[in-house]
Amino acid sequence: MKSQINLMRQLQELVLIRDEHHQTGDGSHLDALNDSIDALRDKLEPQVAGIYDRLYKKSHIVIAAMAKGCCSVCGMQVPIAQAQQVRLAQHLVTCSSCGRILFATEEDAPKNIAEQPDRDDVRTGVSRFSAEELMIPDLKATTREGAIEELALAMERGEFISNAESLVQNAMERERILSTAMDSGFAFPHVRGVEGGALTFAMGVSPKGIDWDGVKVHVVFLSAIPVAVSAFYLRLLADLMAAFRKKDSLAAVLACKTSQELWKALVKATRSFVK
Ligand SMILES: [Zn+2]
Repeated sequence: MKSQINLMRQLQELVLIRDEHHQTGDGSHLDALNDSIDALRDKLEPQVAGIYDRLYKKSHIVIAAMAKGCCSVCGMQVPIAQAQQVRLAQHLVTCSSCGRILFATEEDAPKNIAEQPDRDDVRTGVSRFSAEELMIPDLKATTREGAIEELALAMERGEFISNAESLVQNAMERERILSTAMDSGFAFPHVRGVEGGALTFAMGVSPKGIDWDGVKVHVVFLSAIPVAVSAFYLRLLADLMAAFRKKDSLAAVLACKTSQELWKALVKATRSFVK
């Protein structure tokens, strides 16, 4: 059953990439994404496909990681005997609360993200998702992978994630399916399924530009996304894009020299967009 579970994980990621493409793309990759989704769906065994289709009608998140013994989507604790079944993966086990199919991550522990400090404070706007220490005003990198690495290391230093290397690897895997660069000079690399923490992004600016799969990119947002907030991430993405449609917002972040300045510019630019 492990290979069927892996197929469903790939399938779910492609479906969520298609959702993103609806939000941010021009539709140019829809046909190719649909073909890949259909091809993967056809590889599911009939019984598994039946369960998959039934769950898919309710939510695009059909399969959920078991993190620290809990369903990573609804948070329900998985009973010990059932958790063992999830690890063995000899047959499908579903969450008794949300009904999603559960899978064990390789280490059956939060994949990347570190324990977060107590944050149910009064933060609003963009400060719910990022912080001054995650701002890099002058990216040294000249390549896509280099830029992602610089940002991932800032997230690791700030203990927002626990493993920068794995975040870089996963973000690059995601980029290879469909580049996250936009013609406007922004790129939104990200990794879904980073469980155990909150949605977090780091921001990097490159005044001279980075070649991002043929697009010149000046601003990079690297996000770590718990799968349960995938839909919410799409909203954040739309809000950030709307904020930077104003030309002076882009000029303001390009002129920043320090993390503190960049953080202030980001807060200002997004104030009326990211609530
Ligand atoms: Zn659940």
